[in-house]
Amino acid sequence: MSRKTKVATASLCGCFGCHMSLLDIDERIFDLVELIELERSPLNDLKEVSEVDVVLIEGGVANSDNVELLLQFRAKSQILVAVGACAINGGIPAMRNQFSVSESLQESYLNGLGVTEGQIPDDDEIPWLLNQVHPLHEVVRVDYALPGCPPGGETLWRFLSALLRGEPIILPYTQLHYD
Ligand code: SF4
Repeated sequence: MSRKTKVATASLCGCFGCHMSLLDIDERIFDLVELIELERSPLNDLKEVSEVDVVLIEGGVANSDNVELLLQFRAKSQILVAVGACAINGGIPAMRNQFSVSESLQESYLNGLGVTEGQIPDDDEIPWLLNQVHPLHEVVRVDYALPGCPPGGETLWRFLSALLRGEPIILPYTQLHYD
């Protein structure tokens, strides 16, 4: 590509661990900034979702804001990458799928260990929880999935550098894991 590749990143129902893993590429971050122009990302201060070549998304889809942002990114990106277990299968947050939203809220805000005089938050500013936590592919088309909780820095680097340079993406078996 003659111009730099536009890349965005986002965290939906994620823990930011996959973003931390991206920073684990260490000094190769200098190589990365030569290849990309970073659009909206938790790593910068951009608020707008603009047209991008690649978006890396960690986290599953757990609330109304997640749905909205994911749909915007899908509409504006050429390649959407599900990064990490949460994006691929809902991850640990999807353990709440065995309970109702009401049960989850009551446990968190009223009955949980150490909660005194609890109150379930109720404000229009707060996004609605979905009945279940969903992986990205249940909401939008996903082009690539990088497993791991999180995928290692080396895995992310190999994937990204090959993708950005238009080379075949070859990840050794030893770098693929689901934990
Ligand atoms: S996959 Fe793991 S590290 Fe990544 S957002 Fe989910 S819980 Fe965090």
